[in-house]
Amino acid sequence: MTEEASFSAPRGTYDLIPPDSWRWEHLRAVALDDVFAAAGYQPIETPVFEHTEVFSRGVGAASEVVTKQMYTFEDRGGRSLTLRPEGTAPVMRSVLEHGLERGPLPAKLSYAIPMFRQERPQKGRYRQFWQLGIEAIGTESPVVDAEVIEIGMRYLTGVGLDATLMLNSIGHPGDGCRATYLEALTAFLREHENEIAVEDRDRIRLNPLRTFDSKEAATIAVMEGAPLISEHLCSDCRAHFGAVTDLLDVAGVSYTLEPRLVRGLDYYTRTTFEFVASGLGAQDSVGGGGRYDGLAEALGGPRLPGIGFALGADRILLAGGASQVSDHHPRAYVVTLGDEARTAGFRIVSALRARGVAAEMDLGARGMKGQMKDADRSGADLVVIVGESELASGTATIKDLRSGRQIESPLDTIDEDLATGAIDLDA
Ligand code: AMP
Repeated sequence: MTEEASFSAPRGTYDLIPPDSWRWEHLRAVALDDVFAAAGYQPIETPVFEHTEVFSRGVGAASEVVTKQMYTFEDRGGRSLTLRPEGTAPVMRSVLEHGLERGPLPAKLSYAIPMFRQERPQKGRYRQFWQLGIEAIGTESPVVDAEVIEIGMRYLTGVGLDATLMLNSIGHPGDGCRATYLEALTAFLREHENEIAVEDRDRIRLNPLRTFDSKEAATIAVMEGAPLISEHLCSDCRAHFGAVTDLLDVAGVSYTLEPRLVRGLDYYTRTTFEFVASGLGAQDSVGGGGRYDGLAEALGGPRLPGIGFALGADRILLAGGASQVSDHHPRAYVVTLGDEARTAGFRIVSALRARGVAAEMDLGARGMKGQMKDADRSGADLVVIVGESELASGTATIKDLRSGRQIESPLDTIDEDLATGAIDLDA
């Protein structure tokens, strides 16, 4: 921080301010309270920071998130802590800590929480961003894969995005499946090492699957000819994937098979998927997920299969999600003239809010004209005018700001009358 006051948020972060903050609230509410809840997913909140091992073990020490992007610090007690870069490992940590795996399975959990990754910021890529996610933990059934994917797709459509679903299976880690495939892939990559972009050569040894994620033209060209996991799946993994696609067909969820779709995180097994939206440029992935049957064991727990997704709320907003959501406006704006009327007005505003009717009043000692202007700015449907003559007669004037119609109403029942609809200016 320089001598001069600096009012900018840290690089890679931004503020959500009104009216866009309403769009974000809408995304969160439709996810947690509506679409995810309707399928039986219940909200979970884990801490913003965790012991670093949760991520180094759960995400994979060779993954880019762990090697390059984590915000890791020592606290005053010398413990290594990390700001959460993703949600799945913490949710699994929490499930194991609370023994949820001994309860009804699958445990179905949902979240809308911020994540932190020290990436190079650009449009759609931030250092603090929000993910909306679900995790279904404790079953291997392909029905849950289809359920999770169907929920993600329905959510994105519901908030107004035109998203495409990319789908793949990356098999299980054993011989005769991914292990055998990785040998074939590594052999291929070694053969073409000199053609692969220099930046990507470490991946051959550290995380060969990730070579498919490269953004380097030279590597992309080589990968066109690479062997594909889809040709190496074992019969169980093939059957599982077939069941998932059959169920998606039944539910009318369309998808594009993408045999080059791999996930950067080590614990993924079998089904992997990504939701892609148009109009986002390079950062066109609005969400992704997959099965993580190896995660619980990687964290030191029992074998506990699971599947989930995380949708990027920032990118959903950028892609125009929830664009129809308007900011909130009050039903009534109470205009008062004089101290006594202001007291009466305050009582009315308070009583209206207690009855669930959104109401506002002047907080700035404005005159009549100023208050009417403020009422317009607020977007209120009605103004309730309380002046000296109204106080004397025990009534208030209610004016419909759209039609201009006006009626009188008794001061002591106005809140009830407005709340119950007894006052109907449209009549
Ligand atoms: P991931 O956890 O990397 O699989 O990402 C899942 C989704 O989160 C992506 O499809 C993006 O929509 C979103 N996302 C990931 N990283 C960022 C970031 N740095 N900034 C904004 N959104 C992100």
